[in-house]
This record gives sequence, C-alpha cells and structure tokens, in this order.
Amino acid sequence: MTTQRPQPVEIKRLGNQGIRITWDNGHVGEYTIPYLRRWCPCANCVHELTGQRLLDPKSIPDDLTTEGLELVGSYALRFQFSDFHQTGIYPFDYLWKVCPCGQSHQDAGAGG
Ligand SMILES: [Zn+2]
Ligand SMILES: [Zn+2]
Repeated sequence: MTTQRPQPVEIKRLGNQGIRITWDNGHVGEYTIPYLRRWCPCANCVHELTGQRLLDPKSIPDDLTTEGLELVGSYALRFQFSDFHQTGIYPFDYLWKVCPCGQSHQDAGAGG
C-alpha cells in the first residue's frame, strides 16, 4: 500500500503573525507563528532520541512574529522567529501532521 503525502501548492504569509498552506488535496491550514514556534522540531526543542518535547510552550509569547521564512530545498520551511530562534526546519510532512485545524491528519491505519 502506498500513502500519498499531501504537498503544499501555496504557502502564503499572513502578515508576520502566521502562514496559510494550501495542500494539493484541497485542504487549507492556517498556522500562527507562536503555534509553529511551540512545535519547533529542532534538537533544542525536541529530544533527538526520545522525541520528548523539551520546550515549555508557556515560554513562547502569543505575540511572537516571524522576520522571515524560507524554503529549505523543496521539502521544508524554515522560520526566523522574532525570539531569534531559527534552527528549526519544518518538513512539509511535519507541517501536515501538526495542522491546527483540529481534524485528524494522521494516517488512519494502525501504525507503530
Ligand atoms: Zn527549536
Ligand atoms: Zn488541517
């Protein structure tokens, strides 16, 4: 069985406080910058081996913004957060999984 991962067809900045991603399956997700910062997947924020989140979400202010955002290769995004944290690389796969819309984006099958 193959699982087709959705790919973004459009990534739009919503001012400096969020982004909107339109996926090729028609889904649209809106991410605020503090939300993305709290889900930062870098080694300082998530333990590389255990996957445990080291970052305290409460330490991220709700008015965090991004100074910029860039494409990493053709598979990920990187943000320059206003708290000078910019080590996190967000693969599209990951952004799909953490979509804040509330619907389940996980594969439905029983996984590990
Ligand atoms: Zn981080
Ligand atoms: Zn969603």
